[in-house]
Amino acid sequence: MKNDLHTFGWYAARITPHLPKKVFKPVPSRLLGGLAYLIIVAGGILAIGLFDLNFWLSIGISIILGFSFAGLGFLGHEILHGTVVRKHWLRDLLGAIAFWPLCTGPSLWIKWHNVDHHGHTQDEEKDPDAWLSHDQLEKKPFLRMIYRIPFFLRSIFGFIALAFTFSFHSFRMFLIYFREFKSGKRMKVFMQFILPWASWIGLMFVIGFTNWLFAFLLPLLIANFIVMSYIATNHRLNPLVPVNDPLANSLSVTVPKWVDILHFNFSYHTEHHLFPGMNPKYYPLVKKHIKNMWPERYHEMPMWKAMYALWKTPRVYYQKDKLIDPEEQHLYNTLGSGLDPDDIRSSKKWKDRAGIKPLLPRKNRMEN
Ligand SMILES: [Zn+2]
Ligand SMILES: [Zn+2]
Repeated sequence: MKNDLHTFGWYAARITPHLPKKVFKPVPSRLLGGLAYLIIVAGGILAIGLFDLNFWLSIGISIILGFSFAGLGFLGHEILHGTVVRKHWLRDLLGAIAFWPLCTGPSLWIKWHNVDHHGHTQDEEKDPDAWLSHDQLEKKPFLRMIYRIPFFLRSIFGFIALAFTFSFHSFRMFLIYFREFKSGKRMKVFMQFILPWASWIGLMFVIGFTNWLFAFLLPLLIANFIVMSYIATNHRLNPLVPVNDPLANSLSVTVPKWVDILHFNFSYHTEHHLFPGMNPKYYPLVKKHIKNMWPERYHEMPMWKAMYALWKTPRVYYQKDKLIDPEEQHLYNTLGSGLDPDDIRSSKKWKDRAGIKPLLPRKNRMEN
């Protein structure tokens, strides 16, 4: 597999000659979308805080706030890639504002996402967002216990977890990366983490707990779910790879045009990994070129289908290009080697095939 993989730079170098120069310029007009979201957020929170709204109206506003929090997060992502404004201080300030509802600071995000996730996508050890492999699972007794829960319940929990995983993962990243910052920068990273949380918790004392649930907590869960639906489908159906090849390790999902407008083209994730420094406004053009040059390598799938595949397949990698259910020992192929989430019959046969190391038999595993 290794010989057949190429880095994102290899692909980018082949597409760039076909692109007009303007696609590499920042696009400050994207901020207008952010301004619209900010006005909606401020209006929604004020309405919940000031007026005695009935339950259903509060829920309705909460949902709109959740969509806005997520939309701002997607904008924050492209701002912090430097594709909206170039000046670093302005990039960080606007990125901090856009990520304020999701409580993720720009310095942490740039290190975690731009440097490590983009630099080492789907690398078992170095990508902070990559899902764990069977070898890693063997070393984690607590997680192994979780994986003994029947698969169906694990799927349900996995989907409920989408509603809080971004915040949870973001907090984990803060704990992991904090020490890696130079001591002079740590205060800044800490403030970027604590200030958003302090402001949202402070809001609770101003508008009261029940109002706060509608103005912040429920929207945060909704935003988590939306953002994670993309993040989970962007890479988790793809294999782990020895070379950071976006056509092998990323999936672009397709969504209705109006959703792409609300989410700043975040669905074009393979295109994003090829050109992280290009504004997503131009990704439809990049997509056209990829599909022209490497149609057999490119992965795209409607969002609902990708979610269905996530639901049906287990989340542990086995030998990099397969997904395994450690309890049932069913194996599924990943994208690029024939992913078929409904193929449980052939997945049952996998374990008997030659060349695949048998896992510990169930009896022994229970004794461990
Ligand atoms: Zn990115
Ligand atoms: Zn990614």
